[in-house]
Amino acid sequence: GSWYTVKSQEGHFIECRMKGKFRIKGIKSTNPIAVGDIVDYELEETSDTVTGTIHNIHERKNYIVRKSVNLSHQMHIIASNIDCVFLLVTINNPPTTFNFIDRFLVTAEAYGIETILVFNKIDTFDDATLDEQLYMQHVYQEIGYQCLRVSAATGKGVEELKQLMIGKVTMFSGHSGVGKSTLVNAMEPTLHLKTKTISEASKQGQHTTTFAEMYDLSFDARIIDTPGIKGFGIVDMEKEEISGYFPEFFKLKDQCKFNNCLHKEEPHCAIKAALEKDEIAWSRYNSYLKILEGDDENYRVDSFDE
Ligand code: GDP
Ligand code: ZN
Repeated sequence: GSWYTVKSQEGHFIECRMKGKFRIKGIKSTNPIAVGDIVDYELEETSDTVTGTIHNIHERKNYIVRKSVNLSHQMHIIASNIDCVFLLVTINNPPTTFNFIDRFLVTAEAYGIETILVFNKIDTFDDATLDEQLYMQHVYQEIGYQCLRVSAATGKGVEELKQLMIGKVTMFSGHSGVGKSTLVNAMEPTLHLKTKTISEASKQGQHTTTFAEMYDLSFDARIIDTPGIKGFGIVDMEKEEISGYFPEFFKLKDQCKFNNCLHKEEPHCAIKAALEKDEIAWSRYNSYLKILEGDDENYRVDSFDE
């Protein structure tokens, strides 16, 4: 609606309205303010109510968007000022593919949001699954992504995860069933996220207005809950841009002979050379090709809904 709950620096919650029209530069969005925004407001006190009027939105360090449901040419800002996204990965139940992870990471890189991979359900691993998980972890650690192994069920690794969340605004993403709610409950038993219930409600064909909310946790961490959103999408990405969001490609791309090299069939391509020497993982290259060769809709990586 047009009311926003603002948390003051003193820790009070104030219902605020917005004054006038805001145009955030560079983006046409259906909502002027999103969860995570830092705003200036003025108090308006009557004899029995205290509300506020928002008159300024601070510049966002980053934000994630999706296409507006009603106006497809416009964007809806899901959340802003996110310090870190934890991408939950399970090996088997449900399976998380390299391709899914890579698409996620590309969008996170494009948005300028740090991602940490959290491998969950390690309590269920047999030897083969463990091998698979450790290999996956190796691939992502090699290229600079922090990885964590946890079990929401046994609590293993959860304390380490909490440490990484302190003082930050975070989000949990990943396929449905990877254990997002279970993990957050393990950290903060009194908090019940909407993630699950709302996406289940919408599966039944109900029209639900989904809105994101931020929660303060007891250990000086904040999480943004975005019901019904499993990942986030890119608005516009040129083919030439894509390899810039693969950090290990980005480091090498100046060494390609052609500065507009797409790292496919071009001669003297530094990325193909690194691939042949096993310095770049084939899974990463394959994901790159898939994103590159997808039709417009695909390489715009618009939605992660299964
Ligand atoms: P979400 O859809 O990502 O929120 O996933 P849920 O938190 O609902 O978890 C899906 C299922 O996986 C539930 O049955 C959980 O009990 C189970 N689960 C979550 N984490 C773990 C874990 O670390 N180990 C085991 N064995 N099961 C887990
Ligand atoms: Zn190249």
